[in-house]
Amino acid sequence: MSKECVLMADEAESVFVGIDVGGTNTGAGMVDAEGRLLATVKKRTETSDGDALVRQLAEMVRELLTIRSAKAAFPSSPETGALRAVGVGIPGFLDARRGVVRHAANLPLRDFPLADRLGALLGAPVILDNDVRMYAYGESAVGAAAGYDDALVVTVGTGLAAAVVHRGRLLTGGDLAGEIGHVKVDGNEYACGCGMSGCLETLVSAGGIVRQAKELMRWKPSVLGEWFPERPKAERLQVERTMTAEDVAKAADLGDAVAAEVFERTGRALGSTLAACAALLGTDVMVIGGGVSRAGERLLSPVRRALSERLHPLHSERLKVTAARWTDEAGVIGSALAAKARGGHTV
Ligand SMILES: [Zn+2]
Repeated sequence: MSKECVLMADEAESVFVGIDVGGTNTGAGMVDAEGRLLATVKKRTETSDGDALVRQLAEMVRELLTIRSAKAAFPSSPETGALRAVGVGIPGFLDARRGVVRHAANLPLRDFPLADRLGALLGAPVILDNDVRMYAYGESAVGAAAGYDDALVVTVGTGLAAAVVHRGRLLTGGDLAGEIGHVKVDGNEYACGCGMSGCLETLVSAGGIVRQAKELMRWKPSVLGEWFPERPKAERLQVERTMTAEDVAKAADLGDAVAAEVFERTGRALGSTLAACAALLGTDVMVIGGGVSRAGERLLSPVRRALSERLHPLHSERLKVTAARWTDEAGVIGSALAAKARGGHTV
């Protein structure tokens, strides 16, 4: 075999692992050099301390490599030779350049050198970035924004945030870049987890959708009132579940006026903010992802209406607003591909 062939075979063997660390669950996936997802694992996040979390992440990577060698034609031990780099997405404030987690809510990481610690256990380079940026990178590389030069990717779930990919590169812009969820909306007074009140996220998020539905239900009849009757706490049954954004989506499908109004308000509030972002960036494609994007057109239609009312027609006519290809896996794939693109270097 010529030297060239050996190099090509090495490239074909290369794998990259992406890890999406969440406050509750952590997902990890292995992709090949083309970004194809080969295997995934999911675990409840270890939150006792930073080193225990790092050991868990290393264990998940080894598990993925074991799955890979078991699938291979000639199974071998799960050595890390084919593992080229690992990318980790963290929901929090990071010093991505140094691979340090400054602060992450619900995770035992405070000024913690996660990239170095995990890299030492795995013998492979590790890079870190904010979870929303990793998700955006995945949707831009092999998801709904593939083939576009520039993309604005928004995640609507527990919270609301955005990230921009410009010509295949993530715009970083410091710790707070993309935090559109914490821009104050006129006429909104709901208290936000960030310490301010009136933030866009208090409306445009899973909790925001439920909050708006509960308030509207007080004044208007709704099927949600039958599904989730208001009862004093003492009378509530233990098994009674609380309303979710999915319930509001189900009610909207049944033609419920309250649920329809909630999605209209939510989509419009989001679209109004995104109009200013799109005008600044000259965005051609906007991807709406995260758990709440499962609501699909119920959320996307009012976003489009708000955008077309606010942007110049020359822009709004060419602006595509689409649901993400993945609700979860984009974070894992994006982390892996970002690690590949940066070759494991943190700069
Ligand atoms: Zn806020």
